[in-house]
Amino acid sequence: MGRTPEDFEAARTRLVDQLVDRGHVERASTERALRAVPRHEFVPEGNRRSAYEDRPLPIGNGQTISAPHMVAIMTDLLALEPGDRVLEIGTGCGYHAAVVSEIVGAGNVYSVEYEADLARESRERLSRLGYDVHVRQGDGHAGWPEHAPYDAAYVTCAPETVPDAVVQQVRTGGRVVAPEGTSRQTLVVLTPTETGVSREVHGRVRFVPMRGGSE
Ligand code: SAH
Repeated sequence: MGRTPEDFEAARTRLVDQLVDRGHVERASTERALRAVPRHEFVPEGNRRSAYEDRPLPIGNGQTISAPHMVAIMTDLLALEPGDRVLEIGTGCGYHAAVVSEIVGAGNVYSVEYEADLARESRERLSRLGYDVHVRQGDGHAGWPEHAPYDAAYVTCAPETVPDAVVQQVRTGGRVVAPEGTSRQTLVVLTPTETGVSREVHGRVRFVPMRGGSE
């Protein structure tokens, strides 16, 4: 099972139906994006049969692609509109960037990846699959200031606290969705306001640690 393009499509339909049934997807735009992006193209050959199971998968270099329900939850929380400019920290295999790109459109996603190999591979993969996403190798602690301000930003590796630069590069009223913490992590939503940064906490999560930083 899960070998022909039709099998992959059927498996993807079942997965997204299940995410909707379980209440992980609220926005129609998120649901459409999850139905559109071929997750099996983003995972290593040996793991393709598991591409439409709701769990994280290894993508090489000790890194993982997040479980589909986590991509769904984070994408919903970003509250994206077509045309929004979005910053991602942690490109990994590029799957989440592709999902966001389906919503905001070509050329609007800017993604920073620490590992040179993953940055190069995901840039090539995204472009081969027709996604116009900007990928840069670098340390996401600095964000990507050249294209700020962003309407939204999200982090797919866990810093102890969300880097200031990332929050500062998001416009007033925009959103930052990120895991925070080391052994115990929570998902937070930060909104820069006129007077400071508002903060909501959304439950326990588990992401790979964010590396680098300016110690
Ligand atoms: N969104 C990804 C999930 C990637 S896992 C996907 O859909 O596949 C987290 C990624 O964060 C890893 O690729 C890891 O190399 C990267 N990462 C870790 N520390 C980072 C940093 N300081 N800056 C940018 N990326 C970082």
